[in-house]
Amino acid sequence: MRNQGSRFPRNPASRVQKVLLLATCAALGTSLIAQDPAPSARITGFSPATAAAELKLETQFKDAISSQRIRDYHRYFTSKPHPAGTTNDHEVAQYIAEEWKKQGLEDVVIRQYDVLGTRPVSTMLEMVAPKKYKAVLREQPYSVDPDTANPEIASAWIGFSTSGDVTAPVVYAHSGNPEDYELLRKNGIDVKGKIVLVRYSNPYSYRGFKALTAQRMGAAALLIYSDPAEDGYKKGKVFPDGPWGPESHIQRGAITYDFMVPGDPLTPGWASIPGAKRIPENEAVSLPHIIALPLSWHDAKPLLENMDGPVAPADWQGGLPITYRFAGSVTAHLKVEMDNSTQPYYVVEGRIKGSEFSDEWVLLGNHHDAWEYGGVDPSSGTASMMEMTRAFGAMLKQGIRPRRTLIFGSWDGEEVGLTGSTEWGEQFADELRTKLVAYLNVDSSAAGPDFHGGASGSLAPMLVETSRSIQSPAGGSLHDAWLKSTATERKEEHDAQPVNDSNVVNTRIGSGSDHTVFLNFLGRPVITLEFDGPYGVYHSMYDDFFWMNHFGDPGYKYHAAMSQLWGVTAMRLAQADVLPLDFEFYGDTVNQFLGELEKNKRFDPAKLDLVSAHKAAKELSSAASQTKALLLPSTASGKLDPHQLTPINQLLMQGEANFVLPEGIPGRPWFKHLLYSSRYTYAHLELPAITEAVESGNWAEAQRQAGILTRALNSETALMKQIAAQLQPK
Ligand SMILES: [Zn+2]
Repeated sequence: MRNQGSRFPRNPASRVQKVLLLATCAALGTSLIAQDPAPSARITGFSPATAAAELKLETQFKDAISSQRIRDYHRYFTSKPHPAGTTNDHEVAQYIAEEWKKQGLEDVVIRQYDVLGTRPVSTMLEMVAPKKYKAVLREQPYSVDPDTANPEIASAWIGFSTSGDVTAPVVYAHSGNPEDYELLRKNGIDVKGKIVLVRYSNPYSYRGFKALTAQRMGAAALLIYSDPAEDGYKKGKVFPDGPWGPESHIQRGAITYDFMVPGDPLTPGWASIPGAKRIPENEAVSLPHIIALPLSWHDAKPLLENMDGPVAPADWQGGLPITYRFAGSVTAHLKVEMDNSTQPYYVVEGRIKGSEFSDEWVLLGNHHDAWEYGGVDPSSGTASMMEMTRAFGAMLKQGIRPRRTLIFGSWDGEEVGLTGSTEWGEQFADELRTKLVAYLNVDSSAAGPDFHGGASGSLAPMLVETSRSIQSPAGGSLHDAWLKSTATERKEEHDAQPVNDSNVVNTRIGSGSDHTVFLNFLGRPVITLEFDGPYGVYHSMYDDFFWMNHFGDPGYKYHAAMSQLWGVTAMRLAQADVLPLDFEFYGDTVNQFLGELEKNKRFDPAKLDLVSAHKAAKELSSAASQTKALLLPSTASGKLDPHQLTPINQLLMQGEANFVLPEGIPGRPWFKHLLYSSRYTYAHLELPAITEAVESGNWAEAQRQAGILTRALNSETALMKQIAAQLQPK
């Protein structure tokens, strides 16, 4: 961070000011500091002087983070249910804006987007045969947690369910994935016109994919329930005695087909601002056409145990003490009335303008809408964010300003269809494409102690380096804790790959949160951060303050570590002399993606030749390595002429754009990144265009897409050479 100058009162004798002075001198190429820096004072992209100054500021920033204050923020955000489109959620947006102004952020503004929203009017489910059973569709209160008795808590509902009234036989379809329907068909069971009952997870697929699959199969309605095998008593103690989901917990959620196009379904690819063109609803590809409802296992059990059809196979059996069957004799009556009309969503935006490069932006974001209280998702992230912005604001009040601009986004309607971030990204697309250095997303910040860090390829090394500077609440550095917990997780998943710095970052970025528009539509580098743990109350009312204080993060220490990590990562991107974007690592990552594609079951080396693509990825790594060999020592020695830095950083910022395909991937034009997309299940999907062509046996298209990738890699290599040329003495 750097001093702004005249805008703020300053005390020239302060320690901070001296640090800033040194940093300024170094950036200007003068040599106030002669001594060798300690190895710990090295930061990639910084000179010794700027690194030393940076580390002092980082310490000041980290010391300012208070877990008690995060707890206070968390209590506010979890005090009322606040789904998108409600008055409560609007109040949360106004609160964030007011707090940011008090904290000292600049240009704080609430942006309103009038989007197609989704709210429940009424839901009803009853079994009419062979017995009568009226589903409760409510979660049971517990006296130890008064928040669970709040009358504002909604009943069971699904975002973007259609309205309808249907009475039909019920069929159990396991996870509701295509192979499940295939097995039903083999057993002579047709789901056309029937009510399909499926469970969440096992293997995990996004509920929107279950809805699309049921819709394609011609089902009349979809019921999705939480089986205790996945998030309930089969996993451990349930709420309020443990972190897992109790009998009546309901996982709400939306079924929007945002894997086709996220955001407002009626403005695909442009912002839903006043006067914007809206497409007719029947042309909106992200709108589901099926009635859907989520159930607790309490309400699903009567339907399942009264079936008398063929016994389902072993892997379809769940955690309830019953025999799971495909179908038979159970008829239900389901009535859902929705208000899927235009509703206002509110995105809060604030910034701290950069002192030197105000047109280079580092964006940090989290969503504020929650299914109910959102104790973990997203209020933990929102609380971490508020404490982080408070610390940045406090530094700004002392006259400390970053060299590049920090922008903070508090998104709305993430839970509905990644809506607020998508509309905002589409509104400012032109500027973001040229100015955005990186986007740092935190959705849930802390559901437990296990750190998960994700990054698009070029940012992975700097995230690993930054994690060394953060203390783990468990002791030692976050870096060490991260390697350790990742090793444990991989062991559980029978992944024999030893964990090290080059593979601890998840570089396989799928969808499912607000980074999507920035990576997939705008082609900007992203980082995603989260602490995870045993968490069975996702999207239920039990995901609340009590849960966090008893199970998730009772001392708010992991929330605080997140505020520190998120802020320090942003500071390094905003302060670096040379942006820490690593294209050698990126080339290696692409090469790895190609290798994985060759292991795809459908891949046929006789039909698709990836030799040129592999070669191009290797050339990128080697060109980037040579550029780094010139760039980093000259940065680290502090000898780099500051006039050379701006054009070099501008070139580095173009790196991600070479992976953007303007026409998008086939069938999904909104998704424009050549390396990253998601499957319809939200699972990550690398090299989406080539992979989808391979999996559908369209070899001509696969070869064409491999050519596009090869050319993109070659452009990237040329860019690296152009940067190297800038470094040659003139
Ligand atoms: Zn979330």
